[in-house]
Amino acid sequence: MKTKIYQTLEQYFHYTSFLDHQEEIVSSIVSGKDLCVVMPTGAGKSLCYQLPLLMKDSYGIIVSPLISLMKDQVDSLQEKGIPAAFINTTVPMAEQFEILRRTEAGKVKLLYVAPERFQTPSFRSFLSSHVPETLIVDEAHCISQWGHDFRPSYLKLGEVLKEYNIPQVCAFTATATKIVREDILSQLGRKNMALYVAGFQRPNLAFSVKEVSGAADKNLQLARLLKKKLPTIIYTSTRKAVEQLKEEFDCIAYHGGMSDAERTAAQERFMNEEVPVLAATNAFGMGIDRPDVRQVIHYNIPGSVEAYYQEAGRAGRDGEKAECILFFSYADRYTQEFLIDMNNPPESMVHKVYGVLRGEYKKTSSPLIQLSHSEIKEKIPDMKNDGIVSACLSILEQNNYIGRAYESDPALTLRLVGDMELLAEKNALENTQRSRFVSRFLKKYGKRAFLEYKYSFMELSSITSLSVEQIKRVLHALQGECLQYTLPFRGRTIELLKPDEASLQIDFTPYKQKYEQETGRLEDMISYANTRSCRQAHLIAYFGEDSLWKCGCCDHCAESIAVTSRRKLLTQDELDSCHVILLAVKAFRGRLGRGRISQILSGKRSADLVNAGYTENACFGILASLKQNGVLTFINALEKEGFLQTTGDSRYPCLGLTDKGRNFLANGCKGPLTLTLTAEKKNFSSVNKRKFYAKKYY
Ligand code: ADP
Repeated sequence: MKTKIYQTLEQYFHYTSFLDHQEEIVSSIVSGKDLCVVMPTGAGKSLCYQLPLLMKDSYGIIVSPLISLMKDQVDSLQEKGIPAAFINTTVPMAEQFEILRRTEAGKVKLLYVAPERFQTPSFRSFLSSHVPETLIVDEAHCISQWGHDFRPSYLKLGEVLKEYNIPQVCAFTATATKIVREDILSQLGRKNMALYVAGFQRPNLAFSVKEVSGAADKNLQLARLLKKKLPTIIYTSTRKAVEQLKEEFDCIAYHGGMSDAERTAAQERFMNEEVPVLAATNAFGMGIDRPDVRQVIHYNIPGSVEAYYQEAGRAGRDGEKAECILFFSYADRYTQEFLIDMNNPPESMVHKVYGVLRGEYKKTSSPLIQLSHSEIKEKIPDMKNDGIVSACLSILEQNNYIGRAYESDPALTLRLVGDMELLAEKNALENTQRSRFVSRFLKKYGKRAFLEYKYSFMELSSITSLSVEQIKRVLHALQGECLQYTLPFRGRTIELLKPDEASLQIDFTPYKQKYEQETGRLEDMISYANTRSCRQAHLIAYFGEDSLWKCGCCDHCAESIAVTSRRKLLTQDELDSCHVILLAVKAFRGRLGRGRISQILSGKRSADLVNAGYTENACFGILASLKQNGVLTFINALEKEGFLQTTGDSRYPCLGLTDKGRNFLANGCKGPLTLTLTAEKKNFSSVNKRKFYAKKYY
């Protein structure tokens, strides 16, 4: 079986070896077991189900939520000669039938569909006569209402499995908390499904939390961190904060309120500048892969541990040391709670908002209601803000009590106030966003600028070359000073869809659950900030991976290491490990850093190590049983003792031998040798001696 697996790997995927964990997963799926796999993005999950499906007699179905990704994935499989196809709403009917015909004839082995497909009669009738051997559920967290990306159509998959008696089901996801993992198994109706969680450890990332007292303190700490001049991402929770950081620290800004062109330009600067510092909202990150980001700083606490780990994980993709720092202030907790409360209004408020809309309907006899959010708010004495009104309206909309028409670019009313010449002179330099706005607006409209007219944001944006977000801030800052504006009526007409229904029949249970979930996620994030144990162990335990492991480099581990570090006379095995490390450093001639070297020696199979050919290197995996952390411990100790030194640019630190290291090596690394070992590893004796000598490594 093993040979057949490797043959298929080479034949279709043109790889000669597996990445970490892949072989185990593939074998298990080939053997017909139900399996739920949780591994981080980039770990190579797709191959884990594609390869076994190719080895099966019948065909397999892959359920995938994103139509856009489906096409890319199938295109690249077809390029490799893999018999894959997809059916979704973008495929013309005739072609859909042709694909099903080819599947029937055994010419399609991997059939990608969206979950909604199982509801269409033609597909159902196909399934009843052609039962797939395996159903793969990709992005399986979508099945859980507790997940961040719940898709109701995923809920039906359990029924599909039962109805058609599909023999095997495997689920794959990159993010699944305990509750989501349990939900996946229970929704699929396969409680005995085996669970496989792996790959979340990132030993090169040093996590820490800095308690800060407020915004001024944050900026002070940030200034200190930025002095290091390292490629950095700063994540904040609002667009406004991104713009403020941009002004304060002159960094690159990135958020969803910027135009496409502005965002592309920001990405390009981030990829190309030598030491970019970028402030961004969570809109930044997908598909942007700069490997040498050395710091990811969270300026505000994010809403969930999943989001945090994904964003922080953009640091140190090259395997070298990087810092993930979270600024934590109690005020942030209140801000997050405020946002959760605002987005999840109590049932009573939804009734009150509906009452206001119906009151208006009775007054005007028209189901088209022209009330802005703030006008609705004014009519409800205990309504705290417009945001809650907006959330209440969303609930009414989801339950078909109202419909809303959106205007894509609403107009605002604006006029300048003051003396035209003075304003022109004062703003002539256009050296700030405010002066640029006033000067260009004046140049364009002259005297008319002082009369009240309606303008769209797009219009203002093209006149001033500022983004919509920037314009909003400029207007806000200049209101009453040299201009007056009123924001548009929120651009929405509310239509009562059941104007004669006086009371609401809404099941509020899911909304209450959503509130609890969001509160729970925030609590989890706060418990991370407050943990007293290894930060990374805390994070990976959240995803279900081994919680006994310790990273050895987070703020807490560093503290405990400072206490537990000890000088130790090395055993012969430990001496052998040092010997291997020194030989490897010599062999790589100062071109690699400690991260890479420790990955290679400990035999880590990640896609970039494979691509760079390091897995073929003679010393790959020679210290596998030490694990990467163990190897790092020795490297650090050897450096401290003067055998190794850090060389090269501070941004790309590499390891080299010192004279002392070279002499020691030349004399065969003979003991006795005493080192200061700074991790809690109990057993350092682990060179696979047979392998070591057999490879005649030295
Ligand atoms: P995931 O689905 O876990 O996010 P992907 O399936 O997209 O990960 O794989 C990540 C990368 O690893 C891809 O570029 C893929 O081609 C590469 N990869 C997967 N398996 C192997 C392998 N056995 N050897 C080398 N590269 C691999």
